[in-house]
Amino acid sequence: MFNIEKIRSQFPILHQNINGKPLVYLDNAATSQKPISVLNSIKEYYETINSNVHRGIHTLSQRATEKMEDARKKVQNFINAKHDYEVIFTKGTTEGINLIAYALSNSNLIKKDDEIIISYLEHHSNIVPWQMLCERTGAILKVIPMDENGILQLDFLEKNLNEKTKIVSFNQVSNALGVINPVDEMIKMIRANSAAYIVIDGAQSVTHFAIDVQKMDCDFFVFSGHKLYAPTGTGILYGKESVLNELQPFHGGGEMIAVCSFEKTTYAGLPFKFEAGTPNIGGNIALGAAIDFVNETGIQNLQKHEDQLLHYAQAELLKIENLKIYAEKAHRTAVASFNLEGTGIASDTGMILDKMGIAVRTGHHCTQPIMEFFKIAGTVRASFAVYNTMEEIDILVDGVKKAQRMLS
Ligand code: PMP
Repeated sequence: MFNIEKIRSQFPILHQNINGKPLVYLDNAATSQKPISVLNSIKEYYETINSNVHRGIHTLSQRATEKMEDARKKVQNFINAKHDYEVIFTKGTTEGINLIAYALSNSNLIKKDDEIIISYLEHHSNIVPWQMLCERTGAILKVIPMDENGILQLDFLEKNLNEKTKIVSFNQVSNALGVINPVDEMIKMIRANSAAYIVIDGAQSVTHFAIDVQKMDCDFFVFSGHKLYAPTGTGILYGKESVLNELQPFHGGGEMIAVCSFEKTTYAGLPFKFEAGTPNIGGNIALGAAIDFVNETGIQNLQKHEDQLLHYAQAELLKIENLKIYAEKAHRTAVASFNLEGTGIASDTGMILDKMGIAVRTGHHCTQPIMEFFKIAGTVRASFAVYNTMEEIDILVDGVKKAQRMLS
């Protein structure tokens, strides 16, 4: 049974006043809050088994290794990867995408005039690494356009897929608008018309609905732990075994070698080939605890609750005159991105809401091309998580009305 009060009781940070008002935290697309089980996991790690992994003969090191490898298996099951060694610990989505881009060019798999396709809906971290790859290799970047509702124009994708297409990378859910892209349809189209590597940015999807990377048939799937109730500095790069085996490493260093000599170094197998240096051991273990939290809550329950929050928020916000929700008609999850027309910039609204204890994000959300498309500097973004309530939506809507009165 989904019990919102029980869920909220697990998040200590939510029970405080901000600017004299109860905190209403609606900035979950930026980062989510952490349940007690995750906080305890970090404390317990440092209090009882802190030591370096994989190299140690001593008991603490073995315990830490076991716990971290256990977390890897939890991630494997959570996204339904075939093998645990297809799950690579990173420090977040950004590092995951950069790792792929560098590993591909280090492996000479991208050459001059090859084509890389991304979408208009991308976060800067799924734009810039590919631009940098193009600069290194002479490859060409193409962008799938979108319409007024943030819906990608798939006929462009279909027309532009050919033997030159080497990478297609796009998000499953847009962080700025909450639009859910038709990933299955897109992947089928890409497979039918090219041999491109398919990279899915799952930063905003893994937090809201169930993921099955085998069924999806992507080559890579990346996400950040900190949006999934885990600590910052954690993240996952999933890669298909056959594809990961084609790639040269990104970082060189300890952990990732089989044999190191001055003449020649050979690399370790998966996943260690891509995990140079000491990992975020306590954080990775806590990511496992965050996945336990989501599993105990039930991802279907979480999804249903967040869908209800979004539908209610959208209906109530739209009752406000001169309020525009971006991508209003698109299939979306957990994000309402809006502006109050004729009231100046989004951050004015955000500042007024903050005074009422309401935390939203304002600005371009690291998606400047989307803002350019709509000819705006930014939006107010309210984004929802499992612990948000309908009452909080009412508080948001009241706050937005007050902001409108103050700014008009
Ligand atoms: N992609 C998307 C869709 C995101 O929402 C974010 C975070 N806002 C990122 C990539 C980058 O994630 P991180 O900063 O955790 O690396």
